[in-house]
Amino acid sequence: MTVSATDARPDPGAAALLATLRGCVDAPDVLVDPVDVEPWCHDWRRQFHGRPLCVVLPRTVEAVAAVVRACGQAGYAVVPVGGNTGLSGGATPDASGRDVVLSLARMQAVRRIDPVGETMEVEAGCVLRTAQDAAAEHDLLLPVSLAAEGSACIGGVLATNAGGTNVLRYGMARSRVLGLEVVLADGQVVRGLRALRKDNAGYDWKQWFVGSEGTLGIVTAAVLQLAPRPKHRVTALLAVASPEAALALLRRARRDLGDTLDAFELMSGAALGRVVQHCERVLPMPAAAWFVLLEAAAFLPGLRDATEALLEAALEHGDATDGVIAESARQEADLWALRESITEAEAREGRSYKHDVSVPIASIPAFLQAADAAVVQALPQARLNVFGHVGDGNLHYNVIVPPGTDGAALNALVHDIVVRFGGSISAEHGIGQYRVGELARSKSAAELDLARRIKQALDPQGVLNPGKVLPAPPHGA
Ligand SMILES: Cc1cc2nc3c(=O)[nH]c(=O)nc-3n(C[C@H](O)[C@H](O)[C@H](O)COP(=O)(O)OP(=O)(O)OC[C@H]3O[C@@H](n4cnc5c(N)ncnc54)[C@H](O)[C@@H]3O)c2cc1C
Repeated sequence: MTVSATDARPDPGAAALLATLRGCVDAPDVLVDPVDVEPWCHDWRRQFHGRPLCVVLPRTVEAVAAVVRACGQAGYAVVPVGGNTGLSGGATPDASGRDVVLSLARMQAVRRIDPVGETMEVEAGCVLRTAQDAAAEHDLLLPVSLAAEGSACIGGVLATNAGGTNVLRYGMARSRVLGLEVVLADGQVVRGLRALRKDNAGYDWKQWFVGSEGTLGIVTAAVLQLAPRPKHRVTALLAVASPEAALALLRRARRDLGDTLDAFELMSGAALGRVVQHCERVLPMPAAAWFVLLEAAAFLPGLRDATEALLEAALEHGDATDGVIAESARQEADLWALRESITEAEAREGRSYKHDVSVPIASIPAFLQAADAAVVQALPQARLNVFGHVGDGNLHYNVIVPPGTDGAALNALVHDIVVRFGGSISAEHGIGQYRVGELARSKSAAELDLARRIKQALDPQGVLNPGKVLPAPPHGA
């Protein structure tokens, strides 16, 4: 016998809605068996857990619209999901058994690529790496790159306005969006799949949905701006004495390598020490207080010479104390593996609290000094695991904690210092359900009011991803 995910708590409207949903999509595309829906009951880190009424997998925008309309009419919520790699619990249903998880996984076509206009029209469920590979077949680049790109989908990447490793050069996911197709909370389809670089005819509404984490509309397709694919690439690892030295190196690299600089990642020596200890990776130089992983890519030859000259000047002026430039694709991959293993090494070291924060780039050293001092004072046994896309002012300020640590107090401590430095408590991972309680710490009352008004205008019934991004309205509101 098939046991419905809702059987534990019978809901009189559920059977009627399930019947309606089976008419909106092919009946087998409505999953209710607890075993079938299990992958959608948790977030990637298994920090958040829920229980949906069902998981629906539509194949067309019309079906998405019908599902959303049906849920709204029946008074049920819709939780959109792509690759479920989000790090804020935005795609995890709540425990009520009344959320309908709407997966875009069956809408994954790369519809067209225009090599002259350098654009791609793609459906929301297309995995980011598939879209990157499709662009590469035309010698073009889809310059959004993150460690989860083998699972994250275009819709999720846009709904979270994902960042990643080459924001320094190409900007966040938002900057790639030329056109969007969205299903609104009332089931209306807004078709804006224009491949235009210039379109100032009225509000740029598509950007309202980018970064809205499924709370304002369901992204079903997008037109993305691609870029020419550079022919030459250089990757280097440099040891630096301090965050101040890393910023001096950043300035030098920006001056000497200009726009060819793709990535500038800062990693503490402690973080890389854990990678060596837990992940069988090898540091190609002696241990140091801090390291910078730098990548540049260019169309014309000469990049390697320029990077060698940069390294020499950095060593001469004390911006760096050691450095190595990858000699092969294998060595490049090994250097990147050091960076990409930090999260795994951290997980093996123990429980940690993560802070995905940004501050103005020039404030990074002072922020680190203030935050380190406060954390060490509050939790003398804590171990810091700090790394990040420092070229964008984005730090993953993670703290490995002893058992029994009050995580909320630690989050508040770090986030208050972030706000004092004019920063953001979520640089790229969004708010989801993880940071809802913290949002008011970094946004003014007027900003929160504006956000609520937008939500109220687009989703007055609260059908789309309720309880995500925005704190619950105050009593009586
Ligand atoms: C190992 C790892 C590394 C990561 N590195 C980075 C990084 O460097 N930079 C970064 O920014 N993020 C990073 N992330 C976070 C995550 O990969 C990104 O947030 C990604 O963009 C999420 O895509 P997804 O398809 O998995 O979205 P999901 O997790 O499925 O959903 C994320 C949010 O978007 C909403 N959503 C999903 N699809 C749609 C849609 N079609 N329409 C409307 N709303 C939708 C969901 O409701 C949810 O709120 C990383 C995650 C992992 C696991």
